[in-house]
Amino acid sequence: ANAIELKGLEKIYRGTDGQPSKQALKGIDLEVPRGSFFALLGPNGAGKSTLINILAGLVVKSAGSVSLFGIDIERNPRRARLAIGVVPQELNFDPFFTAREALELQAGLYGVPRSQRRTEEILAAVGLLDKADAYARLLSGGMRRRLLVAKALVHSPPVVILDEPTAGVDVELRRSLWAYMRQLNAQGVTVVLTTHYLEEAEQLCDRIAIINHGEVVACDTKDTLIRRL
Ligand code: ADP
Ligand code: ADP
Repeated sequence: ANAIELKGLEKIYRGTDGQPSKQALKGIDLEVPRGSFFALLGPNGAGKSTLINILAGLVVKSAGSVSLFGIDIERNPRRARLAIGVVPQELNFDPFFTAREALELQAGLYGVPRSQRRTEEILAAVGLLDKADAYARLLSGGMRRRLLVAKALVHSPPVVILDEPTAGVDVELRRSLWAYMRQLNAQGVTVVLTTHYLEEAEQLCDRIAIINHGEVVACDTKDTLIRRL
């Protein structure tokens, strides 16, 4: 089975009056092969975050289906959540917890036994080891973003999804995030990111889906797509 398979995925947001206000996804069919490094590329408003948030379980779809390694996320949420780690775009964080505590909490939520936790290893991998005991509210924006990445990895998910991971980050952090995502992918993790930078998709990914106005307008290997642009 593919790492991710979307069939006829639709999202219609509704206003406070319950009336449809915006169709953000208009029937998305998409297959993300296992082990790929996949970019969802498109301008602001294309529907990328909506798609990611549906995968993350944060937004309820209006129609269609989502499966991860053949597991339907609605029929089998417990298995589905173990398959996926999501790095949201917003810098939401746990103000009164240290970076280490935030990771321990997350590991607890995902049922990772203490003996199998890799808190130190993950902190080191994202460059947060020296900030492990700092309260998250005292971390810089870049450090918080790393903490979000770290939290998504506590249960060693086979798929990691990152929503605009490098939007608004400085050049140095962008480089280190790119290196880290490449490293994860080299270890066999399927990595999916959203971006509105062609350059980012080009530099990192082996497959690209171009999304515009809630539709997939092209989807192919990077080499084929870029030859056609
Ligand atoms: P992208 O991530 O590609 O910028 P989004 O998925 O955030 O796109 O948005 C897709 C469309 O849906 C946009 O027109 C946006 O304004 C709209 N939208 C997003 N979230 C909501 C919401 N909660 N309620 C109503 N419309 C929304
Ligand atoms: P912030 O915006 O949080 O201050 P920076 O991008 O300025 O973060 O990076 C702070 C320091 O951490 C830099 O010296 C950088 O080289 C280092 N760093 C960044 N990513 C990593 C990583 N993955 N592993 C180890 N060190 C890193």
